Amino acid sequence: MAKIGFIGLGNMGLPMAANLVKAGHAVAGFDLGRDNLERASNRGVEAEHSAERAAKDADVVVTMLPAGKQVLDVYTGGVLKAAKPGTLFIDSSTIDVTSARAAHRLASQADMAALDAPVSGGVSGAEAATLTFMAGGAAAAFAQAKPILESMGRRVIHCGEAGAGQAAKICNNMMLGINMIGVSEAFTLAEKLGLSHQALFDVAAASSGQSWALTSYCPVPGLVPSSPANNDYKAGFASALMLKDLKLAQEAAAAAGASTPLGAAAAQLFGLHNAWGEGGTDFSGIIHLIRGKGGQ
Ligand code: NAD
Repeated sequence: MAKIGFIGLGNMGLPMAANLVKAGHAVAGFDLGRDNLERASNRGVEAEHSAERAAKDADVVVTMLPAGKQVLDVYTGGVLKAAKPGTLFIDSSTIDVTSARAAHRLASQADMAALDAPVSGGVSGAEAATLTFMAGGAAAAFAQAKPILESMGRRVIHCGEAGAGQAAKICNNMMLGINMIGVSEAFTLAEKLGLSHQALFDVAAASSGQSWALTSYCPVPGLVPSSPANNDYKAGFASALMLKDLKLAQEAAAAAGASTPLGAAAAQLFGLHNAWGEGGTDFSGIIHLIRGKGGQ
């Protein structure tokens, strides 16, 4: 079993670290928030007073932080110096591709192995250890990380070299954001045409309009039991996080010279939805904005 340093014990990081403990690893954790440290300690994580102390003596260091800035700050703030050479650094935060590649470079300059391994599956997936990890980095780093990631998730996919995990994550979530708006527009049009929700669902679920946003996460209540729509759009996957990912996709598209007009429109629509105060509700609630009833 490995010695693991875990930095960032928030909504996602805490249950992920707890699952590593359950799998028999020795986990030393750090978070800026005292409450989070205490909660982690109650779940078997050894609470440390700094990121450096969590990384010292670790075989693997996992970061689960808000954005690229925090990841690079933690890497340059002493953690890479504190860890022993050859330690594997896994960043599971969702961050911009440029920062992810910079994190790989910093790790490699310090003689460490590195992997970007963002997740999908949300807080419930983090609790249940059913996350999907999409990883970028060298094959050897991936092979070393795989059993560790499998303690926290169900699927672990090697997507390519440095930054490929983050690239996969934002491409996937850009598709999801666009799909959810598409499904919402179709239901809104159906309502205006007097077509019942059930009839549209039955046809589209078995036809070429089918998508995960429709059949697993339908934005209209009463059609799919697991939809947050049935629970007054309680997240689920918060609109603020969808907006974050859509903005990351737009940044990446601008940097790479890719044209993503629907991704840009989706980012703008989720920006409006968040501005209506809906950042904390599920992203499928975008249907209210499409119906012209934003801020519900
Ligand atoms: P969160 O805000 O709950 O947790 C982030 C934690 O990092 C906080 O507890 C904060 O105190 C800590 N932190 C910030 N700077 C730090 C530093 N310098 N040193 C130590 N700790 C520090 O966020 P979250 O929901 O756990 O998300 C974490 C990452 O996972 C984000 O990148 C997010 O986009 C991604 N993500 C979240 C979800 C989700 O459903 N919540 C799903 C997929 C991916």
